[in-house]
Amino acid sequence: MHNPDWLETGLNHIWLPYTQMKTAPTPVGVSHIEGVTLELTDGRKLVDGVGSWWTCVHGYNHPRLKAALIEQLDRLPHVMLGGLGHEPAYALATRLATLTPGDLNRSFFCESGSVAVEVAMKVAVQYWLNTGEGVRPKFLAFKGGYHGDTFATMSVCDPDEGMHSLFGEALPAQHIVDLPTDEASIAALNDTLAQNKDIAAVIVEPLIQGAGGMRMHDAATLRQIREACDRHNVILIFDEIFTGLGRTGDLFASIKSGVTPDIMTIGKALTGGITPLAAAVVSERIYAAFHDEDGSKALMHGPTFTGHALACAVAMASLDLIEETDAIGKVRKLEAELTSRLAPLRGRPNVAEVRVMGAVAAVELNHDFNVDDARAAFIARGTFIRPLGRVIYLTPSYTIQPEELSVLTEAISAIVDALGDQAASAG
Ligand SMILES: *Cc1c(COP(=O)(O)O)cnc(C)c1O
Repeated sequence: MHNPDWLETGLNHIWLPYTQMKTAPTPVGVSHIEGVTLELTDGRKLVDGVGSWWTCVHGYNHPRLKAALIEQLDRLPHVMLGGLGHEPAYALATRLATLTPGDLNRSFFCESGSVAVEVAMKVAVQYWLNTGEGVRPKFLAFKGGYHGDTFATMSVCDPDEGMHSLFGEALPAQHIVDLPTDEASIAALNDTLAQNKDIAAVIVEPLIQGAGGMRMHDAATLRQIREACDRHNVILIFDEIFTGLGRTGDLFASIKSGVTPDIMTIGKALTGGITPLAAAVVSERIYAAFHDEDGSKALMHGPTFTGHALACAVAMASLDLIEETDAIGKVRKLEAELTSRLAPLRGRPNVAEVRVMGAVAAVELNHDFNVDDARAAFIARGTFIRPLGRVIYLTPSYTIQPEELSVLTEAISAIVDALGDQAASAG
């Protein structure tokens, strides 16, 4: 029942993510993917600078990841974790305990990052209930942050600049403060924690705030947050859904910064872009408050597909690839390449800032532009790059080759100039 017009027909029925369906340009249909190349249904080829929302880190169509999935599919597609067990979920939990820093030793699996953050928040609230401290319903998060699209996670996103500002009144009020980067913001963070004893946890995207525009901060900021949490006895959650699994040039931002949280969320790149999978990884200390004779202290959470066998098997293969292909070394080389190729943009009159960390690069312009038009211009130049607001960014696969990277950085250079000319003639 193949319909060659599937895209046009389906557009009347599908509801696309983050899209004004009436005005958005029609998405480009993809027929084949390989490495960092997207082959379109009309035969054009694009070099992908995004990696399918930052998930594709070993290149598309990777034979090892596909083989892991197929092997697991043949053996045991999935059985639920309630009362039954299968090897991939248990093996992955064991492996994550080894790979994550400190005593982050206990993994809860779900299918999306937002739900992993929900679980982290729920664990934090229940920790204080289980330890007899009582109800601590609030969270502290940071301006510029993004933690997901479900209701609890929307409440800890940036309330003004974030994409969920429309929902302000409909969400639980949280404490949203500046990242502690100077004396005043460090004091403000500590004051807020001192004055509000109902805060269960602080949540932060360590080193890079992704969806908020690839904003970067340094390890000292995370040390301030860790110290403040310890001083005021509050749980610290690192949302490493974007920064985890090599993106920053270390396996986790917490390893790069030397700061260990009490709960870490991971997702996005966990399966190398093949299947959905996310996890909340919890420290021994937090977990101990749940491990009890008392049934009411259990974590009452259980997504239907928690610990999905296919996803966990692919994640194991993706972690193998991270180790065997020296993915971290690749990201560090990529960081050097991105830095040198994008450095010349710093002098452009319409460029506010160029930021690079690991396999992340951001060119922030100092004027607004039409994002849909810019996205179309990138496609016309044989690239897939999707600016966020004023920020043009790259989050390529760690396997991207120098020639392919050139196609991306040259397109950025040309389009930054074109957008500058447009802004100049309009203003
Ligand atoms: C993408 C992302 C999420 C949400 O993950 P989903 O899988 O889209 O639900 C949460 N936190 C961060 C830091 C993210 O980058």
